[in-house]
Amino acid sequence: MSDLHKGIAVSPGVAVGTAYCILEIFVNPEKTKLEPHEITQELARYETARDQTSSDLSALQSKVESQVGMDEAAIFAAHRTILRDPAFTNKIRHWIVDERMTAQGALHRLLDDYTQLFSRMADPYLQERLNDIRDVIVRLSAYLTDVLNDADGGDGCLHGPLIVVADELLPSQAVALGDADVHGIVTDRGSQTSHAAIIARSRGIPAVSGAAGIASRVKTGDTIVVNGSEGIIVVNPEAEELSAYRKLEREFFDLKDQLAANRDLPSLTACAQTIELMANINNVNDAEAATAMGADGVGLYRTEYLYLTHENVPDEKEQIDIYRNVIESSPNKKVTIRTLDIGGDKTVAYLGHNHNEANPFMGWRSVRLSFEHPEFFMSQIRAILQAGTSIQGSEVRMMFPMITTVEELRKVRSFVRRAQRRLDEEGKPFSQVKVGMMLEVPAAAIVIRSMLDLVDFVSIGSNDLVQYLMAADRDNPKVSSLCQPLAPAVVHTLNDVIRACNMARVPVTLCGEMAGQPRAFILLLGMGLRSFSMSPAFIPTIKQLASQVTIERTESMLARALQMKTTNQVKRYLRMELEDISPDIAKLDTDG
Ligand code: PEP
Ligand code: MG
Repeated sequence: MSDLHKGIAVSPGVAVGTAYCILEIFVNPEKTKLEPHEITQELARYETARDQTSSDLSALQSKVESQVGMDEAAIFAAHRTILRDPAFTNKIRHWIVDERMTAQGALHRLLDDYTQLFSRMADPYLQERLNDIRDVIVRLSAYLTDVLNDADGGDGCLHGPLIVVADELLPSQAVALGDADVHGIVTDRGSQTSHAAIIARSRGIPAVSGAAGIASRVKTGDTIVVNGSEGIIVVNPEAEELSAYRKLEREFFDLKDQLAANRDLPSLTACAQTIELMANINNVNDAEAATAMGADGVGLYRTEYLYLTHENVPDEKEQIDIYRNVIESSPNKKVTIRTLDIGGDKTVAYLGHNHNEANPFMGWRSVRLSFEHPEFFMSQIRAILQAGTSIQGSEVRMMFPMITTVEELRKVRSFVRRAQRRLDEEGKPFSQVKVGMMLEVPAAAIVIRSMLDLVDFVSIGSNDLVQYLMAADRDNPKVSSLCQPLAPAVVHTLNDVIRACNMARVPVTLCGEMAGQPRAFILLLGMGLRSFSMSPAFIPTIKQLASQVTIERTESMLARALQMKTTNQVKRYLRMELEDISPDIAKLDTDG
């Protein structure tokens, strides 16, 4: 008899495979009390395990950075911070030394303490953070007990296609699965915001989370279906049902292959309007991924990564070399380099930045911080001006984040002029790079018309613009129903800004996540936007969608959407249109 379960659809697509159940390996030790002469040795064992865990996490961080992205890799940096947290280590040491507990017993106790502490918190985001602590503890414990938590369960003979089934997939497990033939993921707990969901989405693996009780109902070897578009799991389906799902799975694979095959086609709408589909990147690996996905250029190179991975401010020469490397690897050698956008959730201690602001997203960040470090700011501007000089056919643009006022824009322009003058005096060659602003603060959206003669281009940072317009933190799932790019207030604001730029003939791009979301993309086309920048993984889908829709149709869709009063109305209406334009791409759109 087949067994049907419902959960949350967190990563679209359909997969059929053999269940592989990941069991909790963290067992409570039998021996609880050490002999006095064993204490020093036990402490040393713990410290060795901690060092091994730390280097494991560094390796994972680099692996995920190069294979998935900087945001996903940040999970492992956070895990190393937990591991190094004195509160964590001091408790373990104290229990081993003063209470003569085994290291494994002390870890167990620590996890119990944290579990109790977090159980009093209703916030699902904070609940997710308990999983981070659990992941660190389980990983440490694996070194103490010699049970390494490999994806192949230790027998080395795991064959795909596999559907991983877990109570909660820990981030490190999700990454370790990278080399196994994983076609789907199913978890008892977790949500849209859990790390496993993020990693599954960025890899294009169908996944369903929050399917309560699933881990205890499935055993390794069962046949299992994951429908990550509808949040359905079927265990041991009947023959007929199985063949229907296999057909859906084939369709999903064919669609992915077909989309990937578009990479060399030009970016055009069905009515032959040329558009520009560019990539958002953090480093040279992303630049290569952008080229592989058929991007037309790089619309946003986030340079924060460079600073986050350096112990000290990289000098001008170092910056030039890194930017050159990125330009060489980017599609058409076309790169928009954004100056440092540190602050908010990202900090670099050496620029005097710290974690103690009450409202970091509204605080001392981006250009606000760069202005107060003129030497550093100058070195970055000079490096960007010089980066493209020896690269034939390159096109480099420079863009400033978080611009809020006209005064800031004037200041930025004077920095650029000064940098050019000095380079001239020093006899150093530099390119005539275009200078642009990111539009991500509502105040700038309101006065955009008075800013346009100060810039060569505008790039809309919708991730921040939406959070500031809606006063809803982009990373807080509690307010995610407010932080919506299709909210009428956002739609009207974007429409106004895009029209203002087009009227003034100032090139405009949008480089927030919404550029890669099918429904938002068609609405933006209707507003007159012709240039988009997104995660490289979304480019094939958006290129396909563009080829199936005419500008005329998107304009009439926009006209209707502008009449709507609620986010749900806009979303439902666009969903209906998308299903009509491209039923296949509608399947890749999971959110409501
Ligand atoms: C944005 O705010 O939309 C943007 C692209 O920048 P970031 O996501 O780096 O803040
Ligand atoms: Mg931003």
